[in-house]
Amino acid sequence: ASPEVVVVGSVNVDTVVRVPRLPAPGETVLGTGATEHVGGKGANQAVAAARLGRRVAFVGAVGDDADGGTVREALAAEGIDLVGLGKRPGARTGAAVVQVDTSGENCITVLAGANGDLDAAAVRTVADDLRRALVTVVQLEIPDDAVAAAIALAGGTVVLNPSPARPVAAGVLDRVDVLIVNRSELALLAGETEPETAGQAAELAGRLSGPAAVVVTLGADGAVLVRAGAVTEVPAVAVERVTDPTGAGDTFAGALADALVRGESLEDAVRWAAEAAAIAVTGSGAQSAMPSREQVLAARQASRS
Ligand code: ATP
Repeated sequence: ASPEVVVVGSVNVDTVVRVPRLPAPGETVLGTGATEHVGGKGANQAVAAARLGRRVAFVGAVGDDADGGTVREALAAEGIDLVGLGKRPGARTGAAVVQVDTSGENCITVLAGANGDLDAAAVRTVADDLRRALVTVVQLEIPDDAVAAAIALAGGTVVLNPSPARPVAAGVLDRVDVLIVNRSELALLAGETEPETAGQAAELAGRLSGPAAVVVTLGADGAVLVRAGAVTEVPAVAVERVTDPTGAGDTFAGALADALVRGESLEDAVRWAAEAAAIAVTGSGAQSAMPSREQVLAARQASRS
């Protein structure tokens, strides 16, 4: 069966090294342990939607190295269709090196690797899937022409998460149905300083031209949806303890895509995304903390009783 959601984006192998404190320039510190996981915004959002039960295809690029095999195995284990995952000869798979100190503060270096080689031609190889998918999700960890090609070919709802923030061509923004931004991404696109309150965020989002709807995620302050001048504030779901907020934004985007495929209204989709993202912050890591549909429903039940 063809995919319900197509995610076009980045995939990395992240190495997380625990350190007693972050090294100063020129300094060497002794790490106390390390873990390796598959990450990258594209892969994360694909996994989030797949965990929630969607048929997902991931379109991206890896190198012809061992990490490329690691990526393929990990995403296949989530049931994700990898027909659109290309192998770039001579390239290395995208990588991130994360140093985390005992207080949770981190330093991150990202190497785009094969993600930087994803081009429009590679995206066009899955044109049929893009035309048929109910939702296409794109971020900005890949080159602009890959982003533009994905959005131009998408036959269903187009969700763009412009992260990391950079200017987006007006012709691209005009085709976006749902733009998901956090405070800093919104500030960059609007050419303003970061909004503090939900009200300020809604006001700024309302001024963006192009996308049919804008969802601003506000971390522990929840999210706000702005569409055709109408504003819907969605509070964050209270959690007992935040373990690791990494991946909250990606869980939110994947869950929003899931809900839209199931025909939910955009308002309900934002609520569902906030419920899924709240679970993600209670676990450590990004993909490792993403909930299944049963987990989100169980948390909803628990909050009502
Ligand atoms: P990141 O890039 O770190 O994954 P982001 O900046 O893209 O995050 P956030 O706005 O931090 O995204 O978080 C996305 C959503 O996750 C929020 O809109 C909210 O619904 C949920 N969320 C984030 N932090 C919390 C929290 N502490 N408690 C409950 N929900 C949270």
